[in-house]
Amino acid sequence: MSSTVRERELLDNVPKKLLIGGVWREADSGARLAVEDPATGAVLAEVADGGPKEMMAALDAAADAQRSWAKSSPRLRSDLLRAAYDEVVRRADEFALLITLEMGKPLAESLGEVRYGAEFLRWFSEEAVRMGGRWNRSPEGTTRLLTMKDPAGPTLMITPWNFPLAMATRKIAPAVAAGCTMVLKPAEQTPLTSLAFAELMQSVGLPVGVLNVVPTTRAAESTSAVLQDARLRKLTFTGSTAVGKRLIEASSSNVLRVSMELGGNAPLIVCEDADIDKAVAGAMLAKMRNIGQACTAANRILVHESVADKFAGNFAAAMSAQQLGRGTETGVQVGPLIDERAREKVSGLVSSAVASGARLLTGGSARIGEGYFFEPTVLTDVGEHDITREELFGPVAPITTFCSDDDAISKANATEYGLASYVFTENISRALRVVEELEFGMVGLNQGVVSNAAAPFGGVKHSGFGREGGAEGIEEYLSTKYVGIAP
Ligand code: NAP
Repeated sequence: MSSTVRERELLDNVPKKLLIGGVWREADSGARLAVEDPATGAVLAEVADGGPKEMMAALDAAADAQRSWAKSSPRLRSDLLRAAYDEVVRRADEFALLITLEMGKPLAESLGEVRYGAEFLRWFSEEAVRMGGRWNRSPEGTTRLLTMKDPAGPTLMITPWNFPLAMATRKIAPAVAAGCTMVLKPAEQTPLTSLAFAELMQSVGLPVGVLNVVPTTRAAESTSAVLQDARLRKLTFTGSTAVGKRLIEASSSNVLRVSMELGGNAPLIVCEDADIDKAVAGAMLAKMRNIGQACTAANRILVHESVADKFAGNFAAAMSAQQLGRGTETGVQVGPLIDERAREKVSGLVSSAVASGARLLTGGSARIGEGYFFEPTVLTDVGEHDITREELFGPVAPITTFCSDDDAISKANATEYGLASYVFTENISRALRVVEELEFGMVGLNQGVVSNAAAPFGGVKHSGFGREGGAEGIEEYLSTKYVGIAP
């Protein structure tokens, strides 16, 4: 089967309606939103475009299902998640192609996302039957203290476009395990993967109303009434810090439980004693995963002045060898950016940094022609500039030097963000000292990837609060209840 026939067949089979209360339906207005292939600009499919009315109907369905879902057995929820894991793994190629089509990353990376996204289903299938409580005698011995966990309740989940499957499963899997019902609002650019995944959850037997999905082009307008509805008990958001701040404010009058996975501005520190080959390989991963469009992306490469030339030369060589193209093509390592706006932002930051004195080692330009491609770019001699202050979200690496560990730590921490950070050193004492002083929720020590379903993913400062994955992940969806019992 030719690749385009396979793509057409896959796209034809993806649901393109809203999922509300177990029923696939159009928006009442009949509105539809177009999903674009960022590698070509072509429209891949049109999907029902929900509004406030549909979002409220989705909350109605989630609220109606909450009571019986909360009573379902942990084993049932565990088995459902395990069946979903098996099914995602069985259909991994299909999901990978869908991610590549609507988001742009190369197929091999999309497959990586599918495996990562599936791991949350497996991990939380194991956690679902391990939720504990406590039983103690009060200190004075006069009463008994029973501590138990209840599901937090109906949850609104808002996800970004950069990991269309994994950002959804990282929320849906712990919510299922905990017994919460859900309304998922996927990003406007990438609703297809979420809709396909919701259909998969239906196919493995998730009860009606537990997961509802409403794509929309009117995110703020569509979610505002739901956020004020007393039946909603939790908001979990992954996206930019600017939108996260607005949602924290919007959720305050309803006193919602809130989890915020927001933007990052990760430093990657290469110490004087680092293994340079390891550091270059780690920097390639930390920078280029998802075409630089990851919240964990290394935005600022900080290199000790004694090894800066060697590191920069090797790193620039690796960056310039990367092959650009549509993610479905063999050998392609770098896909397009998500849209023209994203490319203009990256392009503007690079030109302005160069105009301010930064030196281009490789790349620096948008690729002419269809799609939103930008060349892998390395800059050195980057002084104080927005390119190191803002989240870049593109295949661009600004290198800055430092002269001591303290200098590296203070430069790394000089940001309002606090999500991921990376350190490369062969000296264990230095490693521990630097790791302890970094004000970030996650540190990759001699490795360029921190994401793992078994680890608590999340940030500090303006990168948000709450953790996804690990033993902590399920707690975000549980409320603690204590019962005092007279003996
Ligand atoms: P975004 O613009 O903040 O959008 C994220 C989601 O929020 C989308 O579904 C969007 O809908 C929705 N949204 C936007 N404005 C809203 C509003 N006023 N009310 C309700 N929903 C609203 O972010 P993005 O560009 O999609 O994603 C990139 C950002 O996500 C980066 O900052 C990145 O660092 C961050 N991110 C963080 C993590 C993490 O775990 N910390 C992981 C991945 C990404 P529309 O699509 O319709 O605009």
